[in-house]
Amino acid sequence: MPEPHVPDSAAPAQAGPHSAAYLAQLLDAVEQAVIATNAQGVIVFWNRCAERLYGWRADEVLGRDVVEVVPSEMSREQAADLMERLRAGERWQGEFSVRRRDGSRFHAWVADVPVLDEARRVVGIVGVSSDLTAHLEAQEAVARAENETRRERERLWSVFRHSPAAMTLVRGPDLVFELANAAYVRLVQREVVGRALLDAFPELAGQGIVELLDDAYRTGRAQVGIERKVRLAGRDGEVADRVFDFTFQPLPEDDGRTERILLQVSEVTGQVHARRGAEQARTAADDANRAKSQFLANMSHELRTPINAITGYAELLELGIGGSLTAQQRHQVERIRSSSQHLTTLVNEVLDLAKVESGQMTAEREPVSVSDVLADALALVQPQSVRRGLRLSDRTADAHDAALVGDRDRVRQVLANLLSNAVKFTDPGGRVSVCASVTDEPDGDARLPGRGPWVRMDVEDTGMGIPPERLSTIFEPFVQVDASYTRQAGGTGLGLTISRRLARLMEGDLTVRSTLGRGSCFTLWLPAAPEAEPGQARRRWPRAPYEMPGLGEVGRALTRVAEPVAEELGRRLADDPALPSASRTDRVQLQDHTTTFLVEIGLAMITLDEAGGEPALMRDGTEIQRVISERHGSQRARLGWSEDELRREFGVLRDIVVPLVRDEVRERAEVQVDVDVALGVLERLLQQAEVVSLRGYRHSRQRE
Ligand code: ADP
Repeated sequence: MPEPHVPDSAAPAQAGPHSAAYLAQLLDAVEQAVIATNAQGVIVFWNRCAERLYGWRADEVLGRDVVEVVPSEMSREQAADLMERLRAGERWQGEFSVRRRDGSRFHAWVADVPVLDEARRVVGIVGVSSDLTAHLEAQEAVARAENETRRERERLWSVFRHSPAAMTLVRGPDLVFELANAAYVRLVQREVVGRALLDAFPELAGQGIVELLDDAYRTGRAQVGIERKVRLAGRDGEVADRVFDFTFQPLPEDDGRTERILLQVSEVTGQVHARRGAEQARTAADDANRAKSQFLANMSHELRTPINAITGYAELLELGIGGSLTAQQRHQVERIRSSSQHLTTLVNEVLDLAKVESGQMTAEREPVSVSDVLADALALVQPQSVRRGLRLSDRTADAHDAALVGDRDRVRQVLANLLSNAVKFTDPGGRVSVCASVTDEPDGDARLPGRGPWVRMDVEDTGMGIPPERLSTIFEPFVQVDASYTRQAGGTGLGLTISRRLARLMEGDLTVRSTLGRGSCFTLWLPAAPEAEPGQARRRWPRAPYEMPGLGEVGRALTRVAEPVAEELGRRLADDPALPSASRTDRVQLQDHTTTFLVEIGLAMITLDEAGGEPALMRDGTEIQRVISERHGSQRARLGWSEDELRREFGVLRDIVVPLVRDEVRERAEVQVDVDVALGVLERLLQQAEVVSLRGYRHSRQRE
């Protein structure tokens, strides 16, 4: 503060609005420091704000020299110059650093106004000052923010420019290109910035693209195109069909209006063509496969008749019906006969395989005595094994009374094939044995759809064995581990393929274990016949679809209600006093698996319905159900549930599912059908799941 001059007479004396006390109060209310001095620079007034700002109380500074109390950075010369101006009646204002009582400094804004008497002499100075720190900080913050915004804009712009995704910005109703990144220019092979859309792409007219952009511009709603075909000219002017995915994203201005649209475009021509090609190839392959199976099935019939004739005539010649034969002729006729027998086997097997593959193979569903069918099969290979000097042992005593459910002839066919392989691939002196048992727990590699129990029939030999890397391929058609061996021993490479398909057609499976040089064991798994099963006996696989009304409807309804059922189950379990473990299990774990599991059952029922009851087609679905059910059981075991709790959970699930599905069918099915039988199937599937779950539960417990 320069040297102000305020005469003593400047202090008002009288009371009222013009009194000194009144004016002092008025100035105290001002949120700026007000300091008045006389003409000599002696402080005569010091308001409240000045007390706060400079740290001095009024009574400490009144009567003191202002320069001494509030030293400024102003030099004496500057101060003298300022005084000159004030004396000339000018007001002065500026910014400079001043010091507080505690020695700290701050940046102040100061305005000095001269107080003049009637003769226009300076009798004092009133200085008003305020702290500019906050103001300066705010200014700096604004500058920083502006800087940051600028950098941010530069970053975004750089992303836009260098993005591998083609992007461009169009503006206004004429859709004029404002920006376009390098990827976009590469994609459309032309410079577009500054041009209107239809000027840059005249070939787009009438293709619906401009209309979509107009729509985005007018409504402010984004437009998305997936695999949209567009005719576009290349650099050479040649127009070609190309396929694009794109998004037209309107960018609202501050007032909400759309002025610009961001176009993101990617070309998918290559992928779409490749996919269509693959789809066509797959359809063609499926058609060809079906046609092949059909052809083979027809041809096999045609082939069998002449082959039978060849065999028959060869036998007649051998018997000497047409006259006696020389030794050489006899030998040649014997070769004709054995070759035609081999051909008959081959044709029979090809026919079987073609039938299974084209879904024309059927199998009876009847109770079959295990020991009877094994005895039949053993009788077939007995002479062969005697010829080869093998011991054939029957160890089926354990399963003497057991019965399986299946087609007797097919089961015998499979067993005979396994036994004849065992005999064929075991050197003289070796042993071939069969044994059978009933089990609830099949080996892990057996893919079994049902709930069990199962009959397992093992055909074991001490033969050459199969290398581990070939174990999975021997079930494929025409695969033979050692073709040269088979040439001497006979065989087509189809036996195991057909055997496994037949086993699966009867809801069983065929598995193998083998050690090279030590021997092999093939296991045929088939559902065990329940003690008494009068209703089920003699039912045929596959059933015709009309035998199971409502299967598809129930399946579809189940897939729709799966989610709500899972939720309801979660709720009921949590509230069930008989399920203490449920209240300790979180909701996710309570509902875990349930939706997927129910959807799988639903899909399996739909498949069964659409396939006209062909159970082989359900295999993948039932496999999934089995895995889910088992996992569910072991998860409950891990969570510390009791077996009773697991059973109860399934009870609750059945209680929820059946009525909900029934209602759903009633509400949604286009044609009302009687779904009682189909609901019965659903209940049985759930019961099976319970059994499998319990198995998973027990396994898990045993492992602990
Ligand atoms: P094949 O008519 O050749 O016997 P299969 O489909 O019955 O056709 O068997 C396929 C191949 O699996 C056989 O060629 C053989 O290499 C192998 N194989 C089958 N059974 C046995 C076995 N018991 N011991 C060793 N190898 C076997």
